[in-house]
Amino acid sequence: MTTWSKSSWRAAPRIQMPDYPDQAALKAVEEQLSRYPLLVFAGEARRLRKHLAAAGRGEAFLLQGGDCAESFEQFSSDMIRDTFKVMLQMAVVLTFGAKVPVIKVGRMAGQFAKPRSANMETVGGVELPSYRGDIINDLAFTPESRTPNPQKMMRAYTQSAATLNLLRAFSTGGYADVRKVHGWTNRFTDGEEAAKYRDLAARISDTLDFMAAAGVSPENSHTLQSVEFYTSHESLLLEYEEALCRQEAETGKWLAGSGHMIWIGDRTRQPDGAHVEFASGVQNPIGLKCGPTMQADDLKKLMKKLNPLNEEGRLTLIARFGAGAVGDHLPRLINAVREEGANVVWTCDPMHGNTIKSSSGYKTRPFESVLREVREFFAVHGAEGTVPGGVHFEMTGQDVTECTGGVRDVSDEDLSDRYHTACDPRLNASQSLELAFLVAEELSA
Ligand code: PEP
Ligand code: MN
Repeated sequence: MTTWSKSSWRAAPRIQMPDYPDQAALKAVEEQLSRYPLLVFAGEARRLRKHLAAAGRGEAFLLQGGDCAESFEQFSSDMIRDTFKVMLQMAVVLTFGAKVPVIKVGRMAGQFAKPRSANMETVGGVELPSYRGDIINDLAFTPESRTPNPQKMMRAYTQSAATLNLLRAFSTGGYADVRKVHGWTNRFTDGEEAAKYRDLAARISDTLDFMAAAGVSPENSHTLQSVEFYTSHESLLLEYEEALCRQEAETGKWLAGSGHMIWIGDRTRQPDGAHVEFASGVQNPIGLKCGPTMQADDLKKLMKKLNPLNEEGRLTLIARFGAGAVGDHLPRLINAVREEGANVVWTCDPMHGNTIKSSSGYKTRPFESVLREVREFFAVHGAEGTVPGGVHFEMTGQDVTECTGGVRDVSDEDLSDRYHTACDPRLNASQSLELAFLVAEELSA
């Protein structure tokens, strides 16, 4: 066995990564990036790991969410603000339901590279490389646009730094005041469609009133006016990850400096593959997507490789099987974890197993299926006596029409109105909040 280094992944089989035609340009970008400041600090990653350890024990709950793929073109303050805002709203609702702290982790400030099911895309008889996210190539269907360009890593880095800067400002600058956040949620329940959530929202209002009367209010409590907000992304483009991977002087440990938490996708989780190799040596909390093809033996190998010391909070297993299929797969994986005595955090991604093509031709996800998978996830954990530690959503604070259903019922025909995603369909602000209410019900059941 060779020892880990930030570049040891290069000796392992690599998939889902571009072959850059201009290797000299790639080298230049890697060198430049490796001199740039890290985006996150090792102490933050360790702090997140501590919170996740609590989630694994049922003493906290993880809310992870954001775009399928961040975009250069749609980058704006409003976009970041709105996603942050709806995540805070969801967190208040979930905290009330779960009665434990909610850990907020955005799929933000680095979620740019995408695995694809096909290497090539054919349109009108013309075949070009697939779009792989703005950090790699462009969505436009021309040979130039689809050619991987390493210079895009610099732009992704800059956008991530600016995003993180704004998120940090929002987290402590008064924007996250719990009263204000809950005020927005109250407005959501004002309308007739969302009337069924009014009762829970009113109970949260009462609780805040009671706390204020008892002397605990945002004016005098730091925790009621600020939040900890973490970032995460799929660690897919390993040249970028390696360039931002640094050794901490005090501890000698390595950190993926591109975000607080990184995850390994369902397509790149081969135990001997490049992506697992890279993640195995960094101290960040690691997520691992577990789809229907994940076998118990693979999971055992992966847990050993990714968390050899069996540290709590190190490894989050993100289950994504599809509505109707959770019962077919989750029990055998829970069993594998049990047999190994492994510490993991189980979370549910009810998005990636529920993508369908709508009658209007758009890729969509029915709200009903998303909700059903979450319920099945909770039911299996209930039956197994294990801990459902969190949820993972593709969502945006914008009022898009990408997933069907929800209280403000988006129909197949509505999808074309505001379908803005460059990749997978996201829950809009109202669907996200509604889901939080429904998950809160599950958590308090
Ligand atoms: C994703 O999270 O956008 C993704 C591609 O997920 P998965 O690896 O689970 O398919
Ligand atoms: Mn996706």
